[in-house]
Amino acid sequence: MRKKIIAGNWKMNKTPKEALELVKLLKDKVNTDKSDVVFCVPFVELIPVLEELKGTNIAVGAQNMYFENSGAYTGEISADMLTEIGVKYVIIGHSERRQYFNETDKTVNKKVIKAIEKSLIPIVCVGETLEQREKGITVDFVRIQIKSAFQNVTSEQAENVIIAYEPIWAIGTGVTATSEQAEEVCSAIRKVISEIYDQNTADKIRIQYGGSVNGSNAKELFGMADIDGGLVGGASLKEDFSNIVNY
Ligand code: PEP
Repeated sequence: MRKKIIAGNWKMNKTPKEALELVKLLKDKVNTDKSDVVFCVPFVELIPVLEELKGTNIAVGAQNMYFENSGAYTGEISADMLTEIGVKYVIIGHSERRQYFNETDKTVNKKVIKAIEKSLIPIVCVGETLEQREKGITVDFVRIQIKSAFQNVTSEQAENVIIAYEPIWAIGTGVTATSEQAEEVCSAIRKVISEIYDQNTADKIRIQYGGSVNGSNAKELFGMADIDGGLVGGASLKEDFSNIVNY
């Protein structure tokens, strides 16, 4: 039985002071028995948020990292920097990073490999545009993203990776995929994992849905057979995040 995992992606929101206010509001409200809970906060908030969450079961994640160990990469953050302060997860290949910061399937793969090597759990984002959905190529496109992201990743490593299926047309738009649409792609992703590795790995890997998840639609989405939780943007910045976690 896969434990659900619900992660909040704060994106570029909240100053450190505001971040602590939100964490204080949420930390006693979210139930971590039923689901793993992760707050993916901006880099400068990682340390204060980790401090504030000491003694809870809420984990902290970063929203990006670089695939090199160290060196002349101005503005980048390494996996070692994250693990040393206690970060457990890292979002990789979010569609906004693919769209605005030239993240490619190749860099996603390099980051996945580096994150695993450094004992960070990658939350790997995949998902189609509206145009691709309308053309009927959603599953083909996501299959390519998954195959590339998992290149040179062993089955033992893969089973701990989190995949977030996030249709781009549903991110931040208020338009949520129906539970059937989300399940169709999440189940196709599990099938791709079984083809790359085996059924055992596919049964273990956790696949989130992301795209306008809120306290009202979480229960139906997370009730689908292949949806193991959510990656939540907008609603993770509000008290409603606790309704999602406690769905
Ligand atoms: C996201 O940022 O990954 C996301 C799914 O955003 P939202 O929940 O706001 O659609």
